[in-house]
Amino acid sequence: MSVFSSPSFDEHEDVAFHYDGETGLKAIISLHSTVMGPALGGCRMWAYDDDAAALTDVLRLSRGMTFKNALADLPWGGGKSVIIGNAKTDKTPAMMREMGRFVDSFGGRYIVAEDVGTTPEDMAEIAKTTRNVRGVKSVGFDPSPGTAYGVFKGLEAAVGEALGASDLKGVRVAVQGLGHVGYDLARRLHAAGAVLTVTDIDAAALARAERELGATVVGLDAIYDADVDVYAPCALGATLNDDTIPRLKASIVAGAANNQLAETRHGDRLADRGILYAPDYVLNAGGVIHIYHEGPDFDRDATFAHIGRIGGTMRDIFRRAKDDGIPPHIAADRLAKDKLAAAKAGQRKA
Ligand code: NAD
Repeated sequence: MSVFSSPSFDEHEDVAFHYDGETGLKAIISLHSTVMGPALGGCRMWAYDDDAAALTDVLRLSRGMTFKNALADLPWGGGKSVIIGNAKTDKTPAMMREMGRFVDSFGGRYIVAEDVGTTPEDMAEIAKTTRNVRGVKSVGFDPSPGTAYGVFKGLEAAVGEALGASDLKGVRVAVQGLGHVGYDLARRLHAAGAVLTVTDIDAAALARAERELGATVVGLDAIYDADVDVYAPCALGATLNDDTIPRLKASIVAGAANNQLAETRHGDRLADRGILYAPDYVLNAGGVIHIYHEGPDFDRDATFAHIGRIGGTMRDIFRRAKDDGIPPHIAADRLAKDKLAAAKAGQRKA
């Protein structure tokens, strides 16, 4: 396994491996870029098939965080960490504290937060051995309402772009997944006059949406065929794929779920079908923006004002896509790269 010849290696600044025999910790931290500031990104714990798969994941995810944080107007670069192991059976508090020591060895250049396989409780354990951690249980913040607000603002921008509508009255939206983010988004959409079609595996959430939001409930698979203007994936990743894209009746995809495109080429397929895609990592950045603002001086209004700027960023992306004749998922990456290049040039001058 080689780092530098990995297809996912893209001028990452630092990639470090750590093994601790006592706790069994096997971890990798990848700092893709610290041009904008310390690299912030979650710690994923996953039973990878092999070390190469873990490396590929951490390289890919840390690069994504650079772009996400840059477009969210955060003074943070992009990083990520992975722990190789089964989060249900292998994890111990001692392992998390050792992970904290590993994080701390970067001297503040890497800031860790939760991700798939780790929890706010784990972050509290990590906080015992490093200060460079966010999203700690005792702080008591839930970023989901912030995420939902950002998705709402970005969805509004997409509706303006694709349908020329200045508000959401009568706009038909299919929400897939009524969890922490999806339900809050549905509530906001309903309040703005949108008409909802929803699905979930949780019958109680569906009954509540029917009762409180007048939503029409459809089956798990039927959501892709719903006769709507917007498809809002808020449950699983990779729902935009060869099977689903030809079925969509929506002219917009805008939702909270991470990694919605099964493969990058599916962004092109959406564009071929004339479906406007609001890139997921831009739309769902409300959570990370919320995490940035958390702390004893938390100011909810300032935080939500910052998150609200996702609407403007989304409009910039759609404009860039039009100007360059490219799909929005490529335009978003280009905008982020331009921001990084400008910051780098500024640093060279200083
Ligand atoms: P959640 O677990 O609270 O909600 C997910 C919902 O999807 C649940 O209600 C679940 O029952 C439902 N679901 C599961 N399988 C389904 C299926 N096959 N079809 C339809 N519904 C299904 O998660 P969340 O925090 O609301 O996050 C939703 C998505 O947004 C995830 O992809 C997450 O990675 C992403 N995201 C969340 C945040 C945040 O702040 N919570 C931030 C950024 C991205």
